[in-house]
Amino acid sequence: MESLRQALSEAEKRNVAIGHFNISDLAALRAIVDAARELKLPVLIGVSEGEREFIGTRTAAALVRSLRDESQFPIFLNADHTHSLEKVKEVAEAGYDEVLFDGSKLPFEENLKQSKRAVEIAKSIRPEIVVEGEIGYIGSSSAILEKRPEESLRLTQPEEARQFADETGVDVVAPAVGNMHGLLREMISGEAHKHLDVARIGAIKQAAGKFMTLHGGSGTADKDFVAAIKAGMNIVHVNTELRLAWRKGVEEGLQKDPNEVAPYKILPAAYQRVFQVVRERLTLFNSD
Ligand SMILES: [Zn+2]
Repeated sequence: MESLRQALSEAEKRNVAIGHFNISDLAALRAIVDAARELKLPVLIGVSEGEREFIGTRTAAALVRSLRDESQFPIFLNADHTHSLEKVKEVAEAGYDEVLFDGSKLPFEENLKQSKRAVEIAKSIRPEIVVEGEIGYIGSSSAILEKRPEESLRLTQPEEARQFADETGVDVVAPAVGNMHGLLREMISGEAHKHLDVARIGAIKQAAGKFMTLHGGSGTADKDFVAAIKAGMNIVHVNTELRLAWRKGVEEGLQKDPNEVAPYKILPAAYQRVFQVVRERLTLFNSD
């Protein structure tokens, strides 16, 4: 079975990106995995601290492992936005393929120090684990927002990305390049989009020389996604779009029969909606 590191090298070579999608339940997990299998593409399942608390850190690992074993398909698990070193240790022990240590809210020097420590801790437990670090603030909640968080307007400097990559030893760098977590209300209908600084992505890639992740992908213009991937993004995160699709699906499932109480008859509508978003996004991230 291919490792996440191999899948990343392969994506880099082919100028495509691995899609990363967050889950809180089995309907979304199955939808993501089925969409990836239909397209024959590797995929990353993300669970943030909140999502892990709900599903269970070890349960999420067991679910992904069992799907991977059953399908013999490259499905990987990332501990998304992990804010403490204790939790880095916990997910490395649970067998995660990747951990994102997120010190982006800390002062730069402190983020550097703690990210370096996160790399040491994670790799001492699980040498093959992929460790990601984040510089530059891109907002913190995958939710519907009324306005753009002001701190997210400052973009990562190529020079600080180089220093961060060199001194921490992370495998993957997540920069701020016009991306942002969550969706602005006017982005839901598709009348507004996020726009990325593609030249900056290229400059950071060159300076850092690492794999790179684009966070907060929801609501980004299609052509910006494609250009960002060509410029060096290897992983693209989509969460809010999936949450919206899931919610719409659940509402549809409930409306279809107000007397229905069997979850497995209500939730297929959520599965369908999530499946469609993932299939569209994966197709876009892998267009040549
Ligand atoms: Zn993120």
